[in-house]
Amino acid sequence: MYTKNLFSTVAAVSTPRGKGGIAVVRISGADTAKILEKCFVPKGKPLTERPYRTAVYGDILSGGKIIDSGICTLYEEGRSFTGEMMAELSCHGGVFITREALEAVFAAGAEPAGPGEFTRRAFINGKMSLSEAEAVGQLIDADTKSRAEMASGAVRGNLTSAIGEIDRELLDVMTALYAAIDYPEEDVGTEGEDEILRVVSESARAIDGLRKTYKTGRAVADGVKTVICGRPNVGKSSLYNLLLGEERAIVTDVAGTTRDTLEDTADVGGVTLRLLDTAGIRDTDDKVEKIGVERAYSKLSEAELIICVIDSSSHLDGDDRELIDRLKESSAEKIVVFNKDDLDFALSGDEIGHIKSVTPHTVALSALRGDGKAALEEEIGKIFNEGGLDLSSDAVIWSAAQRASLDRAYDLLEGARRALEDGSPLDAVGVVCEEALAELRMADGRDVSDDIIDGIFSKFCVGK
Ligand code: GDP
Repeated sequence: MYTKNLFSTVAAVSTPRGKGGIAVVRISGADTAKILEKCFVPKGKPLTERPYRTAVYGDILSGGKIIDSGICTLYEEGRSFTGEMMAELSCHGGVFITREALEAVFAAGAEPAGPGEFTRRAFINGKMSLSEAEAVGQLIDADTKSRAEMASGAVRGNLTSAIGEIDRELLDVMTALYAAIDYPEEDVGTEGEDEILRVVSESARAIDGLRKTYKTGRAVADGVKTVICGRPNVGKSSLYNLLLGEERAIVTDVAGTTRDTLEDTADVGGVTLRLLDTAGIRDTDDKVEKIGVERAYSKLSEAELIICVIDSSSHLDGDDRELIDRLKESSAEKIVVFNKDDLDFALSGDEIGHIKSVTPHTVALSALRGDGKAALEEEIGKIFNEGGLDLSSDAVIWSAAQRASLDRAYDLLEGARRALEDGSPLDAVGVVCEEALAELRMADGRDVSDDIIDGIFSKFCVGK
Protein backbone atom coordinates (compact mmCIF):
# COMPACT_ATOMS: atom_id res chain seq x y z
CA MET A 1 0.00 0.00 0.00
CA TYR A 2 1.28 3.44 -0.88
CA THR A 3 1.55 5.67 2.17
CA LYS A 4 4.17 8.25 1.31
CA ASN A 5 3.09 11.87 1.51
CA LEU A 6 3.62 13.12 -2.00
CA PHE A 7 4.81 16.48 -0.73
CA SER A 8 7.69 14.95 1.20
CA THR A 9 11.18 14.96 -0.27
CA VAL A 10 12.49 11.43 -0.62
CA ALA A 11 15.84 9.82 -1.33
CA ALA A 12 17.26 6.41 -2.19
CA VAL A 13 20.29 4.85 -3.82
CA SER A 14 19.36 4.31 -7.48
CA THR A 15 22.37 2.23 -8.49
CA PRO A 16 22.65 -1.49 -7.65
CA ARG A 17 23.79 -2.58 -4.20
CA GLY A 18 27.43 -3.59 -3.95
CA LYS A 19 30.78 -2.18 -4.95
CA GLY A 20 31.05 0.04 -8.04
CA GLY A 21 33.06 2.93 -9.48
CA ILE A 22 30.30 5.31 -8.45
CA ALA A 23 26.89 5.13 -6.79
CA VAL A 24 24.02 7.58 -7.31
CA VAL A 25 21.68 8.86 -4.60
CA ARG A 26 18.48 10.23 -6.09
CA ILE A 27 16.58 12.93 -4.21
CA SER A 28 13.12 14.14 -5.28
CA GLY A 29 10.70 16.72 -3.84
CA ALA A 30 10.31 20.44 -3.23
CA ASP A 31 13.01 20.54 -0.51
CA THR A 32 15.74 18.97 -2.65
CA ALA A 33 17.86 22.15 -2.95
CA LYS A 34 17.44 22.95 0.76
CA ILE A 35 18.53 19.44 1.73
CA LEU A 36 21.57 19.61 -0.54
CA GLU A 37 22.65 22.90 1.03
CA LYS A 38 23.17 20.95 4.27
CA CYS A 39 25.03 17.96 2.86
CA PHE A 40 26.78 19.06 -0.33
CA VAL A 41 29.29 21.91 -0.65
CA PRO A 42 30.12 22.75 -4.27
CA LYS A 43 33.56 23.98 -5.25
CA GLY A 44 32.95 27.59 -6.25
CA LYS A 45 29.47 29.09 -6.48
CA PRO A 46 26.54 27.66 -4.46
CA LEU A 47 24.31 25.12 -6.20
CA THR A 48 21.37 27.51 -6.44
CA GLU A 49 23.46 30.03 -8.38
CA ARG A 50 24.34 27.44 -11.04
CA PRO A 51 22.21 26.59 -14.07
CA TYR A 52 19.98 23.55 -13.59
CA ARG A 53 20.94 20.22 -15.13
CA THR A 54 24.67 20.79 -14.97
CA ALA A 55 27.16 18.59 -13.18
CA VAL A 56 28.64 20.31 -10.13
CA TYR A 57 31.69 18.95 -8.32
CA GLY A 58 31.84 19.28 -4.53
CA ASP A 59 32.17 17.69 -1.09
CA ILE A 60 29.57 15.50 0.56
CA LEU A 61 29.15 16.30 4.26
CA SER A 62 27.85 14.24 7.14
CA GLY A 63 27.48 15.95 10.53
CA GLY A 64 29.64 18.84 9.24
CA LYS A 65 32.47 16.46 8.26
CA ILE A 66 33.57 15.77 4.68
CA ILE A 67 32.95 12.08 3.94
CA ASP A 68 33.53 12.01 0.17
CA SER A 69 33.65 14.17 -2.92
CA GLY A 70 31.18 13.75 -5.78
CA ILE A 71 29.06 15.25 -8.53
CA CYS A 72 25.62 16.71 -8.04
CA THR A 73 23.09 17.46 -10.80
CA LEU A 74 20.05 19.50 -9.79
CA TYR A 75 16.90 19.42 -11.95
CA GLU A 76 14.18 22.03 -11.73
CA GLU A 77 10.53 21.13 -11.15
CA GLY A 78 8.83 20.11 -14.41
CA ARG A 79 12.08 19.16 -16.13
CA SER A 80 13.15 16.10 -14.21
CA PHE A 81 12.38 12.37 -14.35
CA THR A 82 9.83 12.67 -11.53
CA GLY A 83 8.49 16.06 -12.59
CA GLU A 84 9.51 17.45 -9.17
CA MET A 85 12.65 19.29 -8.17
CA MET A 86 15.18 16.48 -8.19
CA ALA A 87 18.88 15.79 -7.78
CA GLU A 88 21.30 13.00 -8.55
CA LEU A 89 24.24 12.96 -6.21
CA SER A 90 27.04 10.61 -7.13
CA CYS A 91 29.67 9.46 -4.69
CA HIS A 92 32.33 6.75 -4.83
CA GLY A 93 30.60 3.39 -5.11
CA GLY A 94 31.77 1.62 -1.96
CA VAL A 95 29.08 -0.12 0.06
CA PHE A 96 29.92 1.83 3.23
CA ILE A 97 30.43 5.25 1.63
CA THR A 98 27.20 4.95 -0.35
CA ARG A 99 25.25 4.19 2.80
CA GLU A 100 26.93 7.13 4.56
CA ALA A 101 26.06 9.50 1.71
CA LEU A 102 22.42 8.35 1.82
CA GLU A 103 22.36 8.73 5.62
CA ALA A 104 23.74 12.28 5.22
CA VAL A 105 20.86 13.11 2.85
CA PHE A 106 18.36 11.65 5.33
CA ALA A 107 19.96 13.64 8.19
CA ALA A 108 19.56 16.79 6.08
CA GLY A 109 15.79 16.20 5.90
CA ALA A 110 14.93 13.66 3.19
CA GLU A 111 12.73 10.63 3.89
CA PRO A 112 13.46 7.13 2.59
CA ALA A 113 11.81 6.54 -0.80
CA GLY A 114 9.45 3.55 -1.14
CA PRO A 115 9.71 0.86 -3.85
CA GLY A 116 9.35 2.40 -7.32
CA GLU A 117 8.62 5.78 -5.76
CA PHE A 118 10.55 7.87 -8.30
CA THR A 119 8.73 6.23 -11.21
CA ARG A 120 5.42 6.48 -9.34
CA ARG A 121 5.95 10.21 -8.83
CA ALA A 122 6.78 10.55 -12.54
CA PHE A 123 3.43 8.88 -13.33
CA ILE A 124 1.47 10.97 -10.80
CA ASN A 125 3.06 14.18 -12.09
CA GLY A 126 2.04 13.31 -15.65
CA LYS A 127 5.59 12.72 -16.90
CA MET A 128 4.58 9.29 -18.19
CA SER A 129 1.53 7.06 -18.65
CA LEU A 130 1.09 3.99 -16.49
CA SER A 131 2.08 1.71 -19.37
CA GLU A 132 5.26 3.77 -19.87
CA ALA A 133 5.99 3.47 -16.13
CA GLU A 134 5.46 -0.30 -16.33
CA ALA A 135 7.81 -0.36 -19.29
CA VAL A 136 10.51 1.33 -17.18
CA GLY A 137 10.27 -1.69 -14.85
CA GLN A 138 10.44 -4.06 -17.85
CA LEU A 139 13.47 -2.24 -19.24
CA ILE A 140 15.30 -2.51 -15.93
CA ASP A 141 14.48 -6.23 -15.74
CA ALA A 142 15.18 -6.92 -19.43
CA ASP A 143 17.82 -9.65 -19.84
CA THR A 144 17.58 -10.14 -23.60
CA LYS A 145 17.93 -7.78 -26.58
CA SER A 146 14.30 -8.25 -27.67
CA ARG A 147 12.93 -7.60 -24.20
CA ALA A 148 15.02 -4.45 -23.88
CA GLU A 149 14.00 -3.26 -27.35
CA MET A 150 10.29 -3.73 -26.67
CA ALA A 151 10.42 -2.11 -23.23
CA SER A 152 12.49 0.79 -24.51
CA GLY A 153 9.96 1.39 -27.30
CA ALA A 154 7.15 1.47 -24.74
CA VAL A 155 9.13 3.82 -22.44
CA ARG A 156 9.48 6.15 -25.41
CA GLY A 157 5.69 6.10 -25.78
CA ASN A 158 5.01 3.76 -28.75
CA LEU A 159 1.95 2.24 -27.12
CA THR A 160 0.74 5.42 -25.45
CA SER A 161 0.80 7.35 -28.71
CA ALA A 162 -0.93 4.55 -30.67
CA ILE A 163 -3.71 4.44 -28.09
CA GLY A 164 -3.78 8.25 -27.96
CA GLU A 165 -4.45 8.39 -31.71
CA ILE A 166 -7.47 6.08 -31.48
CA ASP A 167 -8.60 7.98 -28.38
CA ARG A 168 -8.66 11.29 -30.28
CA GLU A 169 -10.61 9.81 -33.21
CA LEU A 170 -13.19 8.31 -30.86
CA LEU A 171 -13.52 11.59 -28.96
CA ASP A 172 -14.26 13.35 -32.27
CA VAL A 173 -16.92 10.75 -33.06
CA MET A 174 -18.52 11.24 -29.69
CA THR A 175 -18.53 15.01 -30.09
CA ALA A 176 -20.34 14.54 -33.41
CA LEU A 177 -22.73 11.99 -31.91
CA TYR A 178 -23.65 14.13 -28.91
CA ALA A 179 -24.08 17.20 -31.10
CA ALA A 180 -26.52 15.18 -33.20
CA ILE A 181 -28.37 14.01 -30.07
CA ASP A 182 -28.50 17.49 -28.47
CA TYR A 183 -29.49 19.30 -31.65
CA PRO A 184 -31.69 16.85 -33.54
CA GLU A 185 -33.02 19.69 -35.68
CA GLU A 186 -29.53 20.09 -37.16
CA ASP A 187 -29.61 16.77 -38.93
CA VAL A 188 -26.09 15.27 -39.20
CA GLY A 189 -27.19 13.92 -42.56
CA THR A 190 -26.10 10.68 -44.21
CA GLU A 191 -22.68 12.16 -44.87
CA GLY A 192 -22.16 12.80 -41.14
CA GLU A 193 -23.42 9.34 -40.23
CA ASP A 194 -21.17 7.74 -42.84
CA GLU A 195 -18.20 9.58 -41.34
CA ILE A 196 -19.13 8.37 -37.84
CA LEU A 197 -19.44 4.81 -39.14
CA ARG A 198 -16.09 5.10 -40.91
CA VAL A 199 -14.25 6.27 -37.78
CA VAL A 200 -15.91 3.67 -35.54
CA SER A 201 -14.95 0.89 -37.99
CA GLU A 202 -11.40 2.19 -38.32
CA SER A 203 -10.97 2.50 -34.56
CA ALA A 204 -12.21 -1.09 -34.14
CA ARG A 205 -9.70 -2.20 -36.77
CA ALA A 206 -6.85 -0.32 -35.09
CA ILE A 207 -7.75 -1.85 -31.71
CA ASP A 208 -7.92 -5.29 -33.33
CA GLY A 209 -4.40 -4.76 -34.70
CA LEU A 210 -3.13 -3.67 -31.31
CA ARG A 211 -4.67 -6.58 -29.39
CA LYS A 212 -3.14 -9.04 -31.86
CA THR A 213 0.33 -7.86 -30.84
CA TYR A 214 -0.25 -9.67 -27.52
CA LYS A 215 1.04 -13.02 -28.80
CA THR A 216 4.36 -11.44 -29.77
CA GLY A 217 4.53 -9.13 -26.74
CA ARG A 218 3.94 -11.95 -24.30
CA ALA A 219 6.37 -14.24 -26.11
CA VAL A 220 9.04 -11.54 -25.71
CA ALA A 221 8.19 -10.30 -22.20
CA ASP A 222 7.25 -13.52 -20.38
CA GLY A 223 8.92 -15.94 -22.73
CA VAL A 224 7.59 -19.05 -24.42
CA LYS A 225 7.76 -22.28 -22.45
CA THR A 226 9.68 -24.43 -24.87
CA VAL A 227 10.34 -28.13 -24.76
CA ILE A 228 12.98 -29.76 -26.94
CA CYS A 229 11.99 -33.37 -27.30
CA GLY A 230 12.96 -36.44 -29.26
CA ARG A 231 14.25 -39.95 -28.70
CA PRO A 232 17.78 -40.36 -27.30
CA ASN A 233 20.77 -39.38 -29.41
CA VAL A 234 18.91 -37.36 -32.04
CA GLY A 235 20.81 -34.23 -30.93
CA LYS A 236 18.53 -32.49 -28.40
CA SER A 237 21.36 -31.44 -26.09
CA SER A 238 23.43 -30.29 -29.06
CA LEU A 239 20.49 -28.14 -30.26
CA TYR A 240 19.93 -26.82 -26.75
CA ASN A 241 23.56 -25.70 -26.56
CA LEU A 242 23.40 -24.25 -30.06
CA LEU A 243 20.39 -22.11 -29.15
CA LEU A 244 21.94 -20.95 -25.89
CA GLY A 245 25.25 -20.28 -27.57
CA GLU A 246 27.13 -22.04 -24.80
CA GLU A 247 27.79 -25.53 -23.52
CA ARG A 248 25.08 -26.19 -20.97
CA ALA A 249 23.73 -29.67 -21.40
CA ILE A 250 25.99 -32.72 -21.37
CA VAL A 251 26.44 -34.07 -24.89
CA THR A 252 27.46 -37.72 -25.16
CA ASP A 253 26.87 -40.54 -27.59
CA VAL A 254 25.62 -42.80 -24.80
CA ALA A 255 21.84 -42.97 -25.08
CA GLY A 256 19.99 -41.63 -22.03
CA THR A 257 22.62 -39.28 -20.58
CA THR A 258 20.30 -36.29 -20.16
CA ARG A 259 18.31 -37.69 -17.27
CA ASP A 260 16.87 -34.62 -15.69
CA THR A 261 15.41 -31.45 -17.12
CA LEU A 262 17.40 -28.23 -17.46
CA GLU A 263 15.94 -24.74 -17.85
CA ASP A 264 17.36 -21.61 -19.48
CA THR A 265 16.34 -18.49 -21.36
CA ALA A 266 17.46 -17.66 -24.89
CA ASP A 267 16.70 -14.85 -27.31
CA VAL A 268 15.83 -16.78 -30.46
CA GLY A 269 14.39 -15.13 -33.55
CA GLY A 270 13.41 -12.07 -31.53
CA VAL A 271 11.44 -14.18 -29.07
CA THR A 272 12.37 -15.23 -25.54
CA LEU A 273 12.41 -19.00 -25.28
CA ARG A 274 12.31 -20.56 -21.84
CA LEU A 275 14.07 -23.71 -22.85
CA LEU A 276 13.66 -27.07 -21.26
CA ASP A 277 15.98 -29.81 -22.38
CA THR A 278 14.25 -33.04 -21.51
CA ALA A 279 15.37 -36.58 -21.08
CA GLY A 280 15.30 -38.53 -24.32
CA ILE A 281 11.92 -40.06 -24.84
CA ARG A 282 12.02 -43.83 -25.34
CA ASP A 283 10.89 -47.07 -23.81
CA THR A 284 13.33 -47.87 -21.04
CA ASP A 285 13.79 -50.20 -18.09
CA ASP A 286 16.31 -47.94 -16.31
CA LYS A 287 14.52 -46.60 -13.21
CA VAL A 288 16.14 -43.13 -13.11
CA GLU A 289 15.82 -42.68 -16.85
CA LYS A 290 12.17 -43.74 -16.65
CA ILE A 291 11.42 -40.86 -14.24
CA GLY A 292 13.13 -38.48 -16.67
CA VAL A 293 11.07 -39.78 -19.58
CA GLU A 294 7.83 -39.40 -17.65
CA ARG A 295 8.81 -35.89 -16.65
CA ALA A 296 9.53 -35.11 -20.29
CA TYR A 297 6.04 -36.20 -21.31
CA SER A 298 4.46 -34.12 -18.53
CA LYS A 299 6.52 -31.09 -19.64
CA LEU A 300 5.11 -31.58 -23.13
CA SER A 301 1.63 -30.86 -21.81
CA GLU A 302 2.79 -27.56 -20.24
CA ALA A 303 4.74 -26.41 -23.29
CA GLU A 304 3.71 -23.51 -25.50
CA LEU A 305 6.28 -24.46 -28.13
CA ILE A 306 7.54 -27.97 -28.79
CA ILE A 307 10.71 -28.39 -30.82
CA CYS A 308 10.70 -32.02 -31.86
CA VAL A 309 14.10 -33.28 -32.98
CA ILE A 310 14.32 -36.11 -35.52
CA ASP A 311 17.56 -37.71 -36.70
CA SER A 312 17.22 -37.33 -40.48
CA SER A 313 20.15 -39.69 -41.09
CA SER A 314 18.10 -42.69 -39.95
CA HIS A 315 14.54 -43.98 -40.40
CA LEU A 316 11.83 -43.25 -37.86
CA ASP A 317 11.62 -45.86 -35.12
CA GLY A 318 8.80 -46.77 -32.74
CA ASP A 319 9.82 -44.10 -30.21
CA ASP A 320 9.79 -41.39 -32.92
CA ARG A 321 6.36 -42.51 -34.08
CA GLU A 322 4.91 -42.58 -30.57
CA LEU A 323 6.24 -39.08 -29.93
CA ILE A 324 4.78 -37.80 -33.21
CA ASP A 325 1.39 -39.27 -32.23
CA ARG A 326 1.61 -37.54 -28.84
CA LEU A 327 2.43 -34.22 -30.53
CA LYS A 328 -0.78 -34.43 -32.54
CA GLU A 329 -2.75 -34.25 -29.27
CA SER A 330 -0.92 -31.14 -28.03
CA SER A 331 -2.29 -27.65 -28.61
CA ALA A 332 1.21 -26.09 -28.38
CA GLU A 333 2.95 -24.58 -31.40
CA LYS A 334 5.25 -27.16 -32.97
CA ILE A 335 8.42 -27.20 -35.02
CA VAL A 336 10.09 -30.37 -36.26
CA VAL A 337 13.86 -30.16 -36.65
CA PHE A 338 15.43 -32.63 -39.10
CA ASN A 339 18.78 -32.82 -37.36
CA LYS A 340 22.11 -34.24 -38.57
CA ASP A 341 21.63 -32.56 -41.93
CA ASP A 342 25.41 -32.91 -42.43
CA LEU A 343 24.91 -36.69 -42.84
CA ASP A 344 23.06 -38.50 -45.66
CA PHE A 345 19.32 -37.96 -45.57
CA ALA A 346 17.52 -41.26 -44.85
CA LEU A 347 13.88 -40.33 -44.31
CA SER A 348 11.41 -41.58 -46.92
CA GLY A 349 8.64 -39.50 -48.50
CA ASP A 350 6.08 -41.38 -46.37
CA GLU A 351 8.01 -40.60 -43.20
CA ILE A 352 8.24 -36.91 -44.10
CA GLY A 353 4.49 -36.87 -44.87
CA HIS A 354 3.81 -38.44 -41.48
CA ILE A 355 5.85 -35.73 -39.75
CA LYS A 356 4.30 -32.89 -41.75
CA SER A 357 0.83 -34.04 -40.72
CA VAL A 358 1.76 -32.74 -37.25
CA THR A 359 3.07 -29.30 -38.23
CA PRO A 360 3.87 -27.30 -41.35
CA HIS A 361 6.90 -25.84 -39.52
CA THR A 362 9.96 -27.96 -40.30
CA VAL A 363 13.63 -27.02 -40.47
CA ALA A 364 16.68 -28.99 -41.62
CA LEU A 365 19.65 -28.37 -39.36
CA SER A 366 22.98 -29.63 -38.16
CA ALA A 367 23.23 -29.00 -34.44
CA LEU A 368 26.78 -30.29 -34.59
CA ARG A 369 27.96 -27.72 -37.13
CA GLY A 370 25.50 -24.97 -36.34
CA ASP A 371 24.14 -24.87 -39.91
CA GLY A 372 20.44 -24.06 -40.15
CA LYS A 373 20.21 -22.09 -36.91
CA ALA A 374 19.10 -18.97 -38.81
CA ALA A 375 16.31 -20.96 -40.54
CA LEU A 376 15.08 -22.18 -37.16
CA GLU A 377 15.12 -18.64 -35.80
CA GLU A 378 13.15 -17.46 -38.81
CA GLU A 379 10.56 -20.20 -38.33
CA ILE A 380 10.12 -19.28 -34.65
CA GLY A 381 9.80 -15.62 -35.64
CA LYS A 382 7.11 -16.64 -38.16
CA ILE A 383 5.07 -18.37 -35.46
CA PHE A 384 5.34 -15.76 -32.72
CA ASN A 385 5.69 -12.59 -34.75
CA GLU A 386 3.35 -13.24 -37.65
CA GLY A 387 2.78 -9.55 -38.13
CA GLY A 388 6.53 -8.88 -38.47
CA LEU A 389 6.38 -6.29 -35.69
CA ASP A 390 9.38 -4.03 -35.18
CA LEU A 391 9.74 -4.18 -31.42
CA SER A 392 11.53 -0.86 -31.10
CA SER A 393 9.13 1.23 -33.18
CA ASP A 394 5.73 -0.53 -33.21
CA ALA A 395 3.17 -0.40 -30.42
CA VAL A 396 3.12 -3.78 -28.64
CA ILE A 397 1.11 -4.96 -25.65
CA TRP A 398 2.25 -7.75 -23.35
CA SER A 399 -0.01 -7.80 -20.32
CA ALA A 400 -3.14 -9.93 -20.02
CA ALA A 401 -5.00 -6.98 -18.46
CA GLN A 402 -4.23 -4.78 -21.47
CA ARG A 403 -5.35 -7.54 -23.79
CA ALA A 404 -8.63 -7.93 -21.84
CA SER A 405 -9.33 -4.17 -21.99
CA LEU A 406 -8.64 -4.07 -25.73
CA ASP A 407 -10.86 -7.13 -26.30
CA ARG A 408 -13.74 -5.39 -24.53
CA ALA A 409 -13.12 -2.10 -26.38
CA TYR A 410 -13.13 -4.02 -29.68
CA ASP A 411 -16.36 -5.90 -28.92
CA LEU A 412 -18.06 -2.66 -27.86
CA LEU A 413 -16.99 -0.81 -31.01
CA GLU A 414 -18.08 -3.71 -33.21
CA GLY A 415 -21.45 -3.50 -31.43
CA ALA A 416 -21.55 0.26 -32.12
CA ARG A 417 -20.70 -0.35 -35.77
CA ARG A 418 -23.51 -2.87 -36.18
CA ALA A 419 -25.94 -0.54 -34.37
CA LEU A 420 -25.02 2.31 -36.75
CA GLU A 421 -25.49 0.05 -39.77
CA ASP A 422 -28.89 -1.09 -38.45
CA GLY A 423 -29.95 2.54 -37.95
CA SER A 424 -30.24 2.26 -34.14
CA PRO A 425 -30.79 5.50 -32.18
CA LEU A 426 -27.62 7.59 -31.97
CA ASP A 427 -27.74 8.02 -28.18
CA ALA A 428 -27.45 4.24 -27.72
CA VAL A 429 -24.43 4.26 -30.05
CA GLY A 430 -22.93 7.15 -28.05
CA VAL A 431 -23.15 5.21 -24.77
CA VAL A 432 -21.42 2.18 -26.27
CA CYS A 433 -18.64 4.34 -27.78
CA GLU A 434 -18.12 5.96 -24.40
CA GLU A 435 -17.68 2.55 -22.74
CA ALA A 436 -15.26 1.54 -25.48
CA LEU A 437 -13.22 4.70 -24.88
CA ALA A 438 -13.05 3.95 -21.13
CA GLU A 439 -11.75 0.43 -21.88
CA LEU A 440 -9.22 1.79 -24.34
CA ARG A 441 -7.91 4.23 -21.75
CA MET A 442 -7.63 1.44 -19.23
CA ALA A 443 -5.31 -0.40 -21.63
CA ASP A 444 -2.91 2.54 -21.31
CA GLY A 445 -3.35 2.68 -17.55
CA ARG A 446 -5.62 5.70 -17.51
CA ASP A 447 -8.58 5.71 -15.10
CA VAL A 448 -7.42 2.50 -13.43
CA SER A 449 -7.98 1.82 -9.73
CA ASP A 450 -5.43 2.62 -7.02
CA ASP A 451 -5.11 -1.12 -6.33
CA ILE A 452 -3.84 -1.72 -9.84
CA ILE A 453 -1.41 1.20 -9.55
CA ASP A 454 -0.18 -0.11 -6.17
CA GLY A 455 0.27 -3.57 -7.67
CA ILE A 456 2.43 -2.23 -10.50
CA PHE A 457 4.74 -0.12 -8.36
CA SER A 458 5.09 -2.70 -5.59
CA LYS A 459 7.03 -4.83 -8.10
CA PHE A 460 9.70 -2.14 -8.46
CA CYS A 461 12.57 -1.98 -6.04
CA VAL A 462 13.68 0.98 -3.93
CA GLY A 463 15.63 3.56 -5.92
CA LYS A 464 13.67 3.08 -9.19
P1 GDP B 1 20.44 -36.16 -27.25
O1 GDP B 1 20.61 -37.48 -26.59
O2 GDP B 1 19.23 -36.16 -28.12
O3 GDP B 1 20.49 -35.00 -26.31
O4 GDP B 1 21.67 -36.03 -28.28
P2 GDP B 1 23.09 -35.30 -28.10
O5 GDP B 1 22.98 -33.85 -28.36
O6 GDP B 1 23.69 -35.73 -26.80
O7 GDP B 1 23.87 -35.93 -29.33
C1 GDP B 1 24.05 -37.33 -29.49
C2 GDP B 1 25.18 -37.59 -30.46
O8 GDP B 1 24.82 -37.11 -31.77
C3 GDP B 1 26.46 -36.86 -30.09
O9 GDP B 1 27.56 -37.72 -30.40
C4 GDP B 1 26.45 -35.64 -30.98
O10 GDP B 1 27.74 -35.16 -31.25
C5 GDP B 1 25.77 -36.17 -32.22
N1 GDP B 1 25.11 -35.12 -32.97
C6 GDP B 1 24.23 -34.18 -32.51
N2 GDP B 1 23.84 -33.36 -33.50
C7 GDP B 1 24.46 -33.79 -34.62
C8 GDP B 1 24.46 -33.34 -36.00
O11 GDP B 1 23.81 -32.38 -36.40
N3 GDP B 1 25.22 -34.05 -36.87
C9 GDP B 1 25.97 -35.12 -36.49
N4 GDP B 1 26.71 -35.74 -37.41
N5 GDP B 1 26.01 -35.54 -35.21
C10 GDP B 1 25.26 -34.91 -34.29
